[in-house]
Amino acid sequence: MSAAPAPSAPSSVSLAAAAGGGSLLFRQLFDADTGTYTYLLVDVPTGEGVLIDSVFERHERDLSLIQELDIDLVACLDTHAHADHVTGSWLMHEATGCAIGLAAAARAENVTRPLQHGDRVSFGGRSVEVRSTPGHTDGCISFVLDDQSMAFTGDALLVRGCGRCDFQQGNAHTLWTSITEQIFSLPDSCLLYPGHDYTGRTVTSVAEEKAFNARLGGAATERDFVGHMENMRLPHPHKIAEALPGNMRSGKPRESAPAAPSWAPLQRSYAGLPELSPSWVAEHQAELTILDVRSSEEFEGPDGRVAGSLPIPLPELESRASAIPADRPVVVVCHSGSRSALATQQLLKAGHSQVANLRGGLSRWSDEGYPLEGAIRATATT
Ligand code: FE
Repeated sequence: MSAAPAPSAPSSVSLAAAAGGGSLLFRQLFDADTGTYTYLLVDVPTGEGVLIDSVFERHERDLSLIQELDIDLVACLDTHAHADHVTGSWLMHEATGCAIGLAAAARAENVTRPLQHGDRVSFGGRSVEVRSTPGHTDGCISFVLDDQSMAFTGDALLVRGCGRCDFQQGNAHTLWTSITEQIFSLPDSCLLYPGHDYTGRTVTSVAEEKAFNARLGGAATERDFVGHMENMRLPHPHKIAEALPGNMRSGKPRESAPAAPSWAPLQRSYAGLPELSPSWVAEHQAELTILDVRSSEEFEGPDGRVAGSLPIPLPELESRASAIPADRPVVVVCHSGSRSALATQQLLKAGHSQVANLRGGLSRWSDEGYPLEGAIRATATT
């Protein structure tokens, strides 16, 4: 069986390409447990960005994206002190040194950038304007992109709805004023990105909400809106007891920070896998099992192998798993890191706790100058 030559794996991605050629990289991320949207905005020329409404439990996902795209995170911003999830701001601040931005009115601890109506948070050549939009809570703010093409409204305005007003100093009259004066005054074409949605709706626009918002669109008056909001009788969010105190510390855990994995400086890829760098693996090779899941032809072939590695081809991994020593961590390798990613998943599923993928596979290992036993290096002749 002859394999097609593998394309060399890029170890970095141009932000411009990731942004689809535009000068602003925009990502909408979702936490299915709480229906929360997190937004990443990056100025492509400088690589500086901001993250809006992060979720504590999704910190590793967000951080891996920021690291893979080599983004210089300027600030982690929150639209308000959430009652349904804990912010990931403090964890992101610890990991990247970014500022923590929240309305000064929320009076939370650990905020390094207390925000007021009219402030601008700059990232590279771009910025978001802070607009005070209280009513859901008294500290709610919305972030409006500099060209007013997008706004991030948190829970002040949701797609065809709005945040509740029955706790956290909520007030339906105040929310009516916030939405009509601060959000509906934006251009009709301004896209509105909500803090949550529970039915898969991702974005709306000023024009749409003015026309169709079920609570205050169309011909609705302030009296209609307040009448609706004051009679909703919703149950309290089930995470409120944990979320509010957590957010009043900007997401800093009450105990010490979550313990880092003890056996290795694992990085979780945006694809969700624990990975290790070639340099760390090379340095600790003697304490590890290097599991090579390529075919036996490849293992014996001209690409070579890591000295002392254990060959078990991926298709045989399940049946031969007992051959893997249980008393030491396992680093899985293949040519590019793709088959070994699947093997890593399989081993994790089978209950191995100390297992990681070699980032970039043997291709990157070799590119970074680490030795491969039996390798016949192609010599450039042109
Ligand atoms: Fe909320």
